[in-house]
Amino acid sequence: MLTLFFLVLGLIIGSFLNVCITRIPEELSIVAPGSRCPRCKTPIRPFDNIPVVSWLVLRGKCRDCGLPISPMYPLVELLTGLVFAACYAEFGMGAELFKWLFFAGLVIVLTVTDLQVRMLPDAVNWPGFGIGLVFSAAVPPHDGTALWAVQMFAHRRVPEMAVGLLDGLLGAAFGSLLLWGTGRAYKALRGHEGMGLGDVKMMAMVGTFLGFRGTFLTILVGTFLGSVIGLGIVLTLYVAGWGRGLAERASRRGLGSVQSLRFYLASQYQLPLGTFLGIAALLVVFLSRHPLFYRIPGAH
Ligand SMILES: [Zn+2]
Repeated sequence: MLTLFFLVLGLIIGSFLNVCITRIPEELSIVAPGSRCPRCKTPIRPFDNIPVVSWLVLRGKCRDCGLPISPMYPLVELLTGLVFAACYAEFGMGAELFKWLFFAGLVIVLTVTDLQVRMLPDAVNWPGFGIGLVFSAAVPPHDGTALWAVQMFAHRRVPEMAVGLLDGLLGAAFGSLLLWGTGRAYKALRGHEGMGLGDVKMMAMVGTFLGFRGTFLTILVGTFLGSVIGLGIVLTLYVAGWGRGLAERASRRGLGSVQSLRFYLASQYQLPLGTFLGIAALLVVFLSRHPLFYRIPGAH
């Protein structure tokens, strides 16, 4: 019964996340005006604003102008609903559930804005970072790293809140530095920027919620997903003949063989790294509960 409640809550919150996803990158208010068709600007009637259902009833078209509405809207609502229900099933009722619902909302917005417009807005990263620090004190990540550091260097009892806050700060510092370093290494290898500062700030935010180990796991899983799917995209673009015309023209000017030029063009496709990191972060919320990761060194 409560799982169903959190599914429906997620669908409704997902509808609000859609507003954030479309408006924040354009620096528009997320409060006013109310939802409207992105094309003809007609305000959306309350009965056409039911998550997922309305999109299906209207068959993905605006009631007024008949132009298609992106399937991204119902997909974000459905994803949020499922993640909310899964969080309740995993964590039960309590402060920890509230923390992960908040985190899921932030991460879903970033995952989709990066996918759609290659942007990880500061208006999500910085407030998320602040909220994450508050949560790290109130609902500690139970990461064990801060506890270990305190036992190692402080030699006295430290309040649990302070340990939690330290876990959040360690996660943020480690996540952003590791990603920044990876970005420098990528640039040195490939000769162009592979990621922006948005990814670095996103990992600072993620770090405050997940702590040191969860953040490390997020970067491992995220970059792995990015490499595998990225390679898949490059090969698909190549096989599908993406950039063929441009490559043929460049080849006629003696810039190289058509084949190598086409591969070069496909490899220039800009991957949404933040999207992969976001997917990884959501997986880690559940994965880090696994006994393999959840054992806290020095705790009972
Ligand atoms: Zn319309």
